[in-house]
Amino acid sequence: MQCHICNEPTMMFVDEQNQMLYHHCSDCEYIFKTPSVYQDIAAQKERYDLHENDAENEGYRAYFQRFLDFVLPAVRNPKNALDFGCGESTLLASMLEEEGIACDYFDPIYHPRGLDDSKKYDLIVSTEVFEHLQDPKEVFETLLERLNSGGYLAIQTEFHPNEMGAFKNWYYPKDPTHIVFFREKTFEVLASLSNCRVVDDNGKNMVVIKKP
Ligand SMILES: [Zn+2]
Repeated sequence: MQCHICNEPTMMFVDEQNQMLYHHCSDCEYIFKTPSVYQDIAAQKERYDLHENDAENEGYRAYFQRFLDFVLPAVRNPKNALDFGCGESTLLASMLEEEGIACDYFDPIYHPRGLDDSKKYDLIVSTEVFEHLQDPKEVFETLLERLNSGGYLAIQTEFHPNEMGAFKNWYYPKDPTHIVFFREKTFEVLASLSNCRVVDDNGKNMVVIKKP
């Protein structure tokens, strides 16, 4: 199968513990579960409803603060932002508002009201979303269209270990709604395909991309 990011041929491997079939691209280091296991939106919602994303939860707030502590120094005084795929909670949008950044939010399941297609943003944030996407390249390009030139896209998703043994023991793919997996390299390739560039990553789970 061709890589869904860079279109190069991929190599297959199987996790024997659950017979899950993966495709691994050695060029951009993207890994994706075989498309036949991708779930419909109703099954995904059942799983998401189990997430405890309570805005009152101080741990959850600290979790987003770590993201903002990484992202905000890397971006140039954004006036407005969009939280894409916020889930049920609008906490991250509220925290951006507290920083003086007007923030909209969107989630295909919990907050599906349409966005204004003519509205552009200085910053788009998307945390724990990309690992759920069947076609992350398409979503990435759609988000770039919503950015002002010189704007930033900040993504949080766990970077995979890029080694089969470690990958099979990794907790992240055990979630059936986590279907695609990235590394810094994957985002560098994804960005360059759209003439964008990675301005910073934390080597672990966060990356900031700048639109020219
Ligand atoms: Zn690839």
